[in-house]
Amino acid sequence: MKRFYAFVLAAGICCCFYGKEIVTSPDGKMEVTLQVERGRMAYSVAHDGKLFVLPSSLGLVTDFGDLTQGLTLKEVRHRKVAERYNMTRSKTSKALYEANIVEADVENGQGQKMTVEFSVGNSDVAFRYHIPQQQGHRASVIKSEMSCFRLPNGTTTFLCPQTAPMTGWERTKPSYEEDYTADAPMNVRSRDGEGFSLPCLFHLGETGWLMVSETGVAANYCASHLSDYDGERGYSVAYPAEGENNGVGITGAAVGLPAYTPWRTLTLGPTLKPVVETTVMYDLVKPLYEPHQTYKPGRYVWSWLLWQDASMNWDDQVRFVDLAAVMGYEYVLVDALWDEGIGRDRMPELVKYAEGKGVGILLWYNSNGAANDAPQSPRNVLNTPTAREREMAWLEKIGVKGMKIDFFGGDKQETMAYYEALLSDADRHGLQVIFHGCTIPRGWERMFPNYVASEACLASENLYFEQRHCDAEGFELTIHPFLRNAIGSMDWGGTIMNKRMSRDNQSRHFRRTGDVFEMASAIMNQSSLNCIAIYPNNLDELPADELEWLKTVPTTWDETRFIDGYPGRYAVLARRHGSRWYIAALNGTNEPIKLTLQLPMLAGQKVDAIIDQKQKSDLPQGEKKQMSVSKSGIINITLPSLGGGIIEGNDA
Ligand code: CA
Repeated sequence: MKRFYAFVLAAGICCCFYGKEIVTSPDGKMEVTLQVERGRMAYSVAHDGKLFVLPSSLGLVTDFGDLTQGLTLKEVRHRKVAERYNMTRSKTSKALYEANIVEADVENGQGQKMTVEFSVGNSDVAFRYHIPQQQGHRASVIKSEMSCFRLPNGTTTFLCPQTAPMTGWERTKPSYEEDYTADAPMNVRSRDGEGFSLPCLFHLGETGWLMVSETGVAANYCASHLSDYDGERGYSVAYPAEGENNGVGITGAAVGLPAYTPWRTLTLGPTLKPVVETTVMYDLVKPLYEPHQTYKPGRYVWSWLLWQDASMNWDDQVRFVDLAAVMGYEYVLVDALWDEGIGRDRMPELVKYAEGKGVGILLWYNSNGAANDAPQSPRNVLNTPTAREREMAWLEKIGVKGMKIDFFGGDKQETMAYYEALLSDADRHGLQVIFHGCTIPRGWERMFPNYVASEACLASENLYFEQRHCDAEGFELTIHPFLRNAIGSMDWGGTIMNKRMSRDNQSRHFRRTGDVFEMASAIMNQSSLNCIAIYPNNLDELPADELEWLKTVPTTWDETRFIDGYPGRYAVLARRHGSRWYIAALNGTNEPIKLTLQLPMLAGQKVDAIIDQKQKSDLPQGEKKQMSVSKSGIINITLPSLGGGIIEGNDA
């Protein structure tokens, strides 16, 4: 104890009070108050003197005892952390994790122990539980969690429902492919009564914005979501539903002691800037292994989106390899049923043909198994360790560069362990991995060096299926920068340049967004392997300026900054690749918008702009021009309804 006090004094951090502890962020603006009162532990969060999270419960229910009540605070320790690290495949290449940490030891009436750890940064608060070995227990099942989020009255929500298990197409849900509702009151029940998928975004009126998510989840734990809102408790961390993964596996987490739970994260501030720019999901995790090789990012073309299953044949895939080569793109994604349509025997030949053109092949797989009824093949080749080893060794041998693995069973620890196994095995065979029909990533770009991105959104495939999704594309793509894509790489699957959702570009339903809206989405939607869903016909049909621009778009970013926006209405982000800034602006509404943008990074410069202009009866199309950013960093642009803009310039 003596040493602990000496450290506290040396660090200049306030001492502990009986039953109450206050921790502030390095800049002094964020303040977390921890309290144990009448045996219950709670925390609250304020920023700049404004309360974001009202006193909210903490605690765990385990198989050895209840650590939510009868608690007393035993000891509190403080420390500081400042760690710089680099990344290659997320929204930023350099990050700084800087926070003040507090660890509070509590004990229940039976002498059972738990430590709650809070990390308090300038715009992120995160907490987790540490469960030491208990009398007579070196293993435990964590059954449920009493981590709550009580928010001020009048808060509105940006949420999508967690789906009931084993529902939807071929019983493949939950797969995080649901509609978001914007600006709803907190007391609206979730559609299936299963609560809401992470991340969850809250607008606290004048006070600001708050995003709740989690990080550091793989084989070590189950993934979680938020419960429906409860008048007393607020939202609480909820574990997977029993029926997920076809009923296989427990709903809680089985852990060897000592154990840590994943981090629950809160990102907050007066604007959406902290939400867009947060790296909290990466700050709190560490790489789980060194990569066996360096993985190459890049653009990929994808026949399946508009040409569907029928295109999984030799001739069509050769056309897509040729298309990728013409565009200078790095990859072709060959989707489901290639084993039937092309045949395993001919795959080495296809890979070799692509190699000759400087193009890599990515191959689709069904993750199943027993998780659901998804029928597409190849099936039953990844879900047992020996079959998986054989398959991945074959992929390595024939020179395939990566896998897209689809149709997972939900959020149970069982499934999270499967994700980890797939990633670590794939790395040994030099394969990078995209997940579809899946959960959100939770710090995975840093934890797994060959992890690329997850779908986990109502992605582009829905545009092909129904007009209503084309109608909603503006809303969708202006929601994700502030939610889904803020917490991790997102495989939306396609900057789509066809005007009609068909192979002939003449029939079926139509796109609603402007050409530059689609192009700008390649900057807005962050994934180190990014789909540019162009088709051979686009080479002849697109204006030359648009086609040329599409050849140059990067997929990796050194820095990301929030410029302007409102979730579901419009979004403006700046991303830097090397010394060049790419500003993407999307208007998701059916009205034109005038924007006065502050671009200090391009102050006083001439910049290249391509901005959608509304034609009389057609979709908006790009007009390329040089524009000037004022000395004070201001530029004015107007975007037509469902139009977009791209501004490029070199770092000032
Ligand atoms: Ca999907």
